[in-house]
This record gives sequence, C-alpha cells and structure tokens, in this order.
Amino acid sequence: MRTARAETVNMSKVFDHVPQECEPVETRYRRIHTRLPVPESIPILDRVERYETRSMLGQPPVVWDRAEGCQVFDRWGNAWLDWSSGVLVANAGHSHPRIRAAVREELERGLLFSYCFITDVRTRLAERLIELTPPGLDRVFFLTTGSETTENAIKLARTRGRNIRPEKLVVVSFEGAFHGRTMGAQQAGGDDAAKEWIGNLDPDFVQVPFPDGFRTVETSFGSFEAALEDMEVVPDRVCAVLMETYQGGGASFAPTEYVQELQRWCRVHDALLMMDEVQAGFGRTGRLFGFEHYGIVPDVVCLGKAISGSLPLSAVVGREDVMNQYGPGLMTSTHGGNPVACAAALANLDVLEGEGLVTNAARVGHCLREGLDALARDLPDVIGAVHGRGLVYGIHVVRPGGDAPNPVLAFEVVRESFYAGLLMFAPVGFGGATIKIAPSLSIPLDAIEEGLDVLTGAFRRALTRPDTQSPD
Ligand code: PMP
Repeated sequence: MRTARAETVNMSKVFDHVPQECEPVETRYRRIHTRLPVPESIPILDRVERYETRSMLGQPPVVWDRAEGCQVFDRWGNAWLDWSSGVLVANAGHSHPRIRAAVREELERGLLFSYCFITDVRTRLAERLIELTPPGLDRVFFLTTGSETTENAIKLARTRGRNIRPEKLVVVSFEGAFHGRTMGAQQAGGDDAAKEWIGNLDPDFVQVPFPDGFRTVETSFGSFEAALEDMEVVPDRVCAVLMETYQGGGASFAPTEYVQELQRWCRVHDALLMMDEVQAGFGRTGRLFGFEHYGIVPDVVCLGKAISGSLPLSAVVGREDVMNQYGPGLMTSTHGGNPVACAAALANLDVLEGEGLVTNAARVGHCLREGLDALARDLPDVIGAVHGRGLVYGIHVVRPGGDAPNPVLAFEVVRESFYAGLLMFAPVGFGGATIKIAPSLSIPLDAIEEGLDVLTGAFRRALTRPDTQSPD
C-alpha cells in the first residue's frame, strides 16, 4: 500500500538570536522600541538552547511576558499585534478577564486536579459540549492534548472495526494532514518525512489526496475512491476516515459536495467519519464548529486548542455506541478533564457566546480575506493562493512564476513582520511555505487593517532580498 507523498515539514530557517536594529513603532496595537531580539532577553534564549530541545527554537524570538486580547507583550515594553493566537488557542482573546476569574475561583476552591474522580465542573462542561454539538454526538471523553484526541479516535474506530470484522482496521486520512506527533496521530498524518522515525509503518494507515483545489487540482469525490483503488484498499476494510475540517498546513477546505459524498460513502461502508476539529473548533472558521460549513454531522469529533482558550484541555465527542465501547476504568487519562481547565473552558464558552465572537470571526474575517486577496492580486508571482475562512488564512507563498513552494520568502515575511510588531508563527504547510494568519476572534477591524499594512510592507521588504526571488 502507498503512503502519502505530501511534504508538510516546517523547512524554515531558525530565527537568529543576534539583536537587529528595528524601526521604532508606536501604534494602538504595536510598540517596538528596542533591538530584536531584545538584548536583555538573550540570556533567556541561551537557556532555551542550553537546556531545552532544538525543536523549541522554531518561533520568532520574543519572550512572552503577558498577553491580552490580540496583543502579546514582553517585559521590556514591546508589544506585538498577535496574528497567531499562540497556535489557534486564544480564540476568546488572550487572558480574557472572565476566563482568568473562573480559573482563580476554581484555584481558590482548593482543587487542582482529580484524575477520573468526579467533579461537578467536568460534568457541567460535558453537558455543555453535548448541548452545543448536534444530536448524534452524545458522549464526551476529556483528554489534555490534541494528539491524544486523534489517538483516541483512531483507537475507538479500530476497536469498533475489529468487532465488526477482524480485518476492518484501515484508517483513511489525507496527504498533507496533521493530527499530532504521537505514533498513531503521526501515522494518520500526511507527511512522510515526519513519520520516518516510526520505522515499521502500519499498512492500515493510508492517505489519499486532499482536495484543496491548488496543490491537488482534482477535487471531485471520485478521486477519493480512485486513490483507494490504486492502493488496493477494499472499502469494507475501512473502519474510519479521519479528516481535518480544514487542513491546518494551508487553511485549505475541501469542497462541500466532496465531504457530503464522503459521509455517504462512510455510511455505505460502515466506516466512521471522524473530523479533527482541534484547529477548526470554537468559532475559528466563523461557525462554532467548522464541520457545520459542510452540512454534515460527523460520528466522532476531536477538539482541543481553543476549547479552553487557555489551559491544556481536549475532548473527543462522538456517537454513544462508539464512545462507550470501553468499560469503567478502561479508557482514562490522568490529567484529562482537569477541573481548573474545565472551569476555564466553561468561561471560554460563555465569552464566545456572550460576546458574539463567532459572528465577529465571520464579519471581521471577511475584511481580512478581502485584504489578503488584494495582496495576492498585487503579488501574483509569489502568492500562489490564499485559503481559509472566518479568521484563519494561509498565504501559499511560491517561487516566482510557478507553484513551487518558497519557504525562504515565507520565512522572511514572518521575520520582517516580527520586527515591525506583527506576530505570526513560523511558516507551515507544504514545503514550509504557508504563512498562517489566525488572530483572536475578538480582534477589532482596525487591528486587521493595521496588520494588513504591516504584512504588505513585510512582503515588500522581504522581496528586496535576492534569495527570496530566485526561481526554482
Ligand atoms: N490536530 C490538529 C488539526 C492540529 O492542528 C494539532 C496541533 N497543531 C493537533 C491535532 C495536535 O494537537 P497537540 O499539539 O495539542 O497535541
């Protein structure tokens, strides 16, 4: 059987730690008045290098001191307009006062964890999630990270599949997908290089092309069936299809008809449709759950990141028959459903609903989309596509005159933006050449406009460097 070819590693360079002179900036959302990285922060950066892993050095070198709303502050008086939300966590805005108050109250009650022992706050969050998700999604299982949710979804699907027929074990996912870095999650991912470490890959994890309409031009559902046939996967051996609601690497959605046909296909072949909403959930796309765009209800949904907008928490929500396969004590996790994190999540949901942030994501996101489309029209040689919806976008940066990824330019744009007070995380996705934009859903319109100006300037400056323009 074939495994996926897509390359989604972060191939960007490392941000250097030599302080650079920066143009001073003083606006409503940004304040840069030191060299960057800040010379006084160098001992901290050095400690990362000395005591943590190299893998932790991938982001622009700002030492976060506090973060509020759509801004991140260091302790030397600089402020960044944050277009990362960390990594799509702070949907309600960083350090929202209601979330902080809920956390404080829970801490002061004097209960910091409970393992699987029951807490009222956990049951209230479970009830709330079931109320918020469509009928058919009837049970919640709490975990701590996104990767654990995809691992758990895979386990539930294979458990169910085996019980139907011993060989019903195949998990179909997509080229270019990201579901986490643990063993099952990574095998379901669509990045061959990232799973080399596993050695003996399980042949019952297969990937098909993701119909993004850019890297994969063929977007009809026929391509799904054709790919399975190519790999000689008998449909009735498939226990589940695992799909990111949008592919995180490029903020790329599939066509609605494709996903609807996929759901039909899953029903015909008694396979579960499992949506990985770890990124798409909680308003990011302009709907509370991203799968709503497709007009489908999945059998299993993986939730993480913005579920609490803050503390580590994740959840799998699914059909009762799927979720209840394991008996008491047989599907557990030490820190799953931590009471403080659950309190944060309840407050987070209150904020998302009470402040109309999902609607705001759709409204403000529309303006962001228009601005990015205008930028792409101005720079057609190096912006191959802009994908996304609501408040998540991916600028697919290409080499002049083609569609080969241009990680050097993407990196320089993120770096130039950082020096100018606009914070994004390092490029991701195909060839490490997608600039990802994901501000808090509470971001005001003028902050979107300000960020667009900075981004435009960053592209212009980055394009003056000869190495960002060289063709393939
Ligand atoms: N699934 C998706 C779609 C993700 O974007 C991520 C994280 N970027 C994960 C799973 C893994 O989440 P975590 O890093 O919390 O394990």
